Amino acid sequence: MAKELFLCYLAKKKAKLSEKDKFIKMRTSNFFLTTLKEAPAESEIISHQLMLRAGLIRQVAAGIYNWLPLGYRVLKKVENIVRMEMDIAGALETLLPAVQPSELWKESGRWDDYGPELLRFPDRHQRDFCLGPTHEEVITNLIQSEIQSYRQLPLNLYQIQTKFRDEIRPRFGVMRSREFIMKDAYSFDIDADGMQISYQKMYDAYVRIFENLGLEAKAVEADSGTIGGNFSHEFHVMANTGEDAIAVCNSCDYAANVEKVELAPILKKRSRPLKDLNKVHTPNQKSIDDLCSFLKIKSNKALKTLIVHGTEDKLVAIAIRGDHELNPIKAEKLKQISKPLKFANYDEIEKLTNTPPGSIGPVNLQIPLVADHDAALLTDFVCGANEADYHLTGVNWGRDLKEPDAYDLRQAADGDPCPNEKDKTLLIRRGIEVGHVFQLGSKYSKALNATFLNNKGVSQSFQMGCYGIGITRIIAAAIEQNHDENGIIWPSPLAPFQVCIVPIGYTKSSRVREYTENLYNNLLEVNIETLLEDRNERPGVIFSEMDLIGIPHRIVVSERGLKNGMVEYRNRRTGESTDYSSEEIIDVLKALRAMP
Ligand code: ATP
Ligand code: MG
Repeated sequence: MAKELFLCYLAKKKAKLSEKDKFIKMRTSNFFLTTLKEAPAESEIISHQLMLRAGLIRQVAAGIYNWLPLGYRVLKKVENIVRMEMDIAGALETLLPAVQPSELWKESGRWDDYGPELLRFPDRHQRDFCLGPTHEEVITNLIQSEIQSYRQLPLNLYQIQTKFRDEIRPRFGVMRSREFIMKDAYSFDIDADGMQISYQKMYDAYVRIFENLGLEAKAVEADSGTIGGNFSHEFHVMANTGEDAIAVCNSCDYAANVEKVELAPILKKRSRPLKDLNKVHTPNQKSIDDLCSFLKIKSNKALKTLIVHGTEDKLVAIAIRGDHELNPIKAEKLKQISKPLKFANYDEIEKLTNTPPGSIGPVNLQIPLVADHDAALLTDFVCGANEADYHLTGVNWGRDLKEPDAYDLRQAADGDPCPNEKDKTLLIRRGIEVGHVFQLGSKYSKALNATFLNNKGVSQSFQMGCYGIGITRIIAAAIEQNHDENGIIWPSPLAPFQVCIVPIGYTKSSRVREYTENLYNNLLEVNIETLLEDRNERPGVIFSEMDLIGIPHRIVVSERGLKNGMVEYRNRRTGESTDYSSEEIIDVLKALRAMP
């Protein structure tokens, strides 16, 4: 009996404590608000500026951040939305180590392939380790030792965890940081059909996640990069500051990263040459634009010649039409070109041609040449003469130089035909990659020898998929999409608090104080996360601060308003203020919180 009483006492004490904590934490006098008037000079884009100004994050070292309590509330919201949809999709939460042994990476071949983004270090016994930039090796190794039979499949494991990538240019705050939080999931299936079902489940979960987060996101076809595999989609939050260019069809639902868009030649065949080859003096015309205005030609009549490193240490020339851009990912896929793509430097170009860059052209160039399809279809074109300050005009493939080997090598551009509907055109928009799903097939299971016994008792490699979401990047992306000149405008699911109460004369008027405390308790009671402003600051200062941190709903309580039985409500997104009855405001807020 004594024991039961004691347990009961403990339970009561615990309940009391948590209730008290809940109330104290949400008063501004106790909450760690550290806003800044000006954005620090190093912040270039709006989300980075606002995350620093609103006191969500603080930099510790390049690309490494502290998350302050306000920011961490947002971070947890994102994590929980992602977690909920992963659980609904049948994935199981797990936690893998951040520190990983080199042996696993050597087995997969990525210890050599991953490059300097992988942060490596020895332990005290001089054994090599790395900080995990991703977890395919660790998870495949786990599954290899734990799963023996097809009966245990399919399986999908996920974690929400810190990753480290030693990015060459960490920038834009948590958008491209070195340490960041990712949700990564890995599916294991018996065969390719099973893998596709798992992939589709994750794809659908991602669509729901971005809807639930209140973000405008788009699934786009993508290249698989160093993760590998055959098929992948990226999820992008569309925003002008995005690092990626996305090609979107103006009619059908085709969308792809420009790196990935497969382009057929614009022209069907080459027209007949009409001009003779000519060498012209083009003093100081270094760029294509300068050259074209000097010669009064359109840039689609000129040819750019880029010199890159080939395999076996040779140089290779790439010919691209003047108005087009090289797509490095497509170029890297050619067997004659080195991966990663490396441009020849000034000295290498001068040694090759006796000419500084700017007047390089394919005629009489003594190295292998590849051309983009559209470059290979040019007639009577202009190109460098391999002589300083000279260009050739009226150049024609097959007549003045050898027919080139032609490939799809250029970046998609505004106005290109849609690969699905040829008579429709593509538009190029900017996107921030917030998620990426891959069909890996057996790339990692084969490399790490991860097999199971199938229903005939035969050993078989797992078919894998992997699925990442940038938890911390999502927050920056959400701000890029949702802000105004006064600060952040959180979509409701991400807001650190739904409501702030700003009492005017909280310390002076007992009526204001009593009403405020009552309202506050009642809002918490119905689980509306509320921040109570009790610092006795000037209203103007507080209003700007609440606008900056982006709380969706603001209630101003004043002696004058209460006399008339009213409080003032202001919506952060629309900026509209309305007076509501002090009795009904909770119902109004309940209804508003239900709105997207
Ligand atoms: P990026 O092309 O932007 O470098 P990635 O293709 O290398 O991205 P994945 O390996 O697919 O990215 O990682 C999954 C997700 O992790 C990405 O979609 C992105 O949201 C996030 N992410 C990747 N790198 C970073 C980073 N340096 N900082 C913050 N988030 C990142
Ligand atoms: Mg990357």
